[in-house]
Amino acid sequence: MDPAETLAQVAKEVAVCVKCALYKGRKKAVPGEGPAKADIMFIGEGPGFYENEQGRPFVGAAGKFLDELLESIQLKREDVFITNVVKCRPPGNRDPLPEEVATCTSNYLFRQIEAINPKIIVTLGRHSMGLFMPEAKISRVHGKPVRSGSRLVVPMFHPAAALHQPALRSSIVADFAMLPKWIAEVEKTAKTAGAKSARAKADEKEAGKKSSDKGGGDNGAPTQLSLF
Ligand code: URA
Ligand code: SF4
Repeated sequence: MDPAETLAQVAKEVAVCVKCALYKGRKKAVPGEGPAKADIMFIGEGPGFYENEQGRPFVGAAGKFLDELLESIQLKREDVFITNVVKCRPPGNRDPLPEEVATCTSNYLFRQIEAINPKIIVTLGRHSMGLFMPEAKISRVHGKPVRSGSRLVVPMFHPAAALHQPALRSSIVADFAMLPKWIAEVEKTAKTAGAKSARAKADEKEAGKKSSDKGGGDNGAPTQLSLF
């Protein structure tokens, strides 16, 4: 399955999912939306009232603020993938329970991340951050990227919380302003890694040639080199 097909399949499954109790309050599931090849993925907490009505992520007041934040760094909603930890609305907007988070992420979110393979994941709020850094305190780590394999995870405050609290609001604005730098950084690292692996391949080829020059043939040297 290619990435777009995986995303479509996930959306089809969540629409009828009964794997956790949150399905009971579902009007429309909110699988998330955006390009299958997005470089940046935003992960919120869960659908609220309006998201549940429309089946789309971040369409209420927090969503309007998120649009403004994206605009502040010359990004549009259509450029990024936006989703949530859980795909159905928790009753009365309560926090999702640990077992609901575990069920929904293992069945859906982690498949979406794998398919999209974004360069950067921005976590919005504690629940989303908790998937990647369970011990972290958001007040301390917000805006500070951590490496997760070849990608960066940048924790940020939730826009719904930041909307009405001036201190959090200026924090999230400042954290967003740094995103272009993190994007450039992760792209640079990817290029260096690409160049390194191309060089390693060339070295292997050279080593292979040398050993056959000596009449050694395929003596395993290239395999050895590829270990480094
Ligand atoms: N809050 C979230 O965490 N997600 C949404 O989709 C909307 C509001
Ligand atoms: Fe299924 Fe996730 Fe909805 Fe629970 S929240 S019913 S696991 S799609």
